[in-house]
Amino acid sequence: MTAAPSRYGATLDEITSTLSEWGEPRYRTAQVWSALHAPHSLEDATALPRALRDRLGDAFPLVLTPEVVSASSDTMTTKWLWSCTAGGAQVETVLMRSPNRATVCISSQAGCAMGCTFCATGQAGFERHLTTGEIVEQVARAGHSSEQRISNVVFMGMGEPLANYDAVWGAVERLHGDFGISARRITVSTVGVVPGMRRLAAESLPVTLAVSLHAPDDELRNQLVPLNRRYPIAEVLDAAADVAGAHGRRITFEYACIAGVNDRIDQADALGALLRSFPGSGGAHVNLIPLNPTAGFTGHAARHDRLRIFAERLAGKGVTATIRRNRGTDIDAACGQLRARVAIPDPPSGSATMAP
Ligand code: SAH
Ligand code: SF4
Repeated sequence: MTAAPSRYGATLDEITSTLSEWGEPRYRTAQVWSALHAPHSLEDATALPRALRDRLGDAFPLVLTPEVVSASSDTMTTKWLWSCTAGGAQVETVLMRSPNRATVCISSQAGCAMGCTFCATGQAGFERHLTTGEIVEQVARAGHSSEQRISNVVFMGMGEPLANYDAVWGAVERLHGDFGISARRITVSTVGVVPGMRRLAAESLPVTLAVSLHAPDDELRNQLVPLNRRYPIAEVLDAAADVAGAHGRRITFEYACIAGVNDRIDQADALGALLRSFPGSGGAHVNLIPLNPTAGFTGHAARHDRLRIFAERLAGKGVTATIRRNRGTDIDAACGQLRARVAIPDPPSGSATMAP
């Protein structure tokens, strides 16, 4: 017998045929499907008889178990460390709320094979791809715990989404079509997996693309992002331009600012030269993220005044930039960091900040 489909991996057809095997009236299918995508959990779907909820819960189990749930002191940020029923891999999800939006940052893989030197997930290595059901469940369960409806989803947790394309795209379609989260409010962040970016350009749903650049030249990027040796900056920018052209959307470039490594004025000018006149409405946008310290990397966050100068130099080239504020500093709300802390009982001291 094959394993039962997970609650958010089950298709509408699978739910329909299960309900019909159970002899349920036909109108139940729509009721159950809408309960699955409601802001509350299936267990709280009072439109359905309790016995049916219990039976559905057993037939379509949740597949993530919370190991650690932590909330920031202002309660606006919540982070989950889950263990997957299938094999026990650990993944992280972060919910970030503000008065006018609720954004969930989700993982697409347990671990990551890309090996970016400054990233806690990259340092830990690759474990496995997540399934569509595991990806969607992160959003659903963050939503169940939030008073606000989830308005935005970012694939900026653990893993490289475009290295797990089919499962990620299945989740995007589900989030857009069934949860009603507009494709534009779903951001796929990539380290520059060019074939995946080309596929994205060919999709009709115009998701937002973020590209993690971190360096203005190949020599430095090769050191920080090993994948750059396979897909150098020029190829990554060409594929990003393809997505911008196809979707008419502005591309965001992520830039983790590391003191003395990539925060010099000449590097800002070089980045500005690369990104000026970028296609897509409004051109390229740069997110300057102060580096989060991680156990396996000696670099430090660039100072705030350096970030301001960096942003001004980009503006001089006509490239807009935002300096990301730190978020969730008291809860290790950065890619791979909660897992790292749980796995290593006595981590070096130092504040953690929300990376993405
Ligand atoms: N693999 C994808 C998405 C997950 S990482 C990618 O790399 O884009 C999400 C973002 O967090 C990326 O921009 C990544 O570069 C950034 N990031 C990872 N570790 C970081 C750290 N220690 N400090 C700051 N940003 C970090
Ligand atoms: Fe993977 Fe992204 Fe971390 Fe690089 S930064 S190791 S691609 S998760």
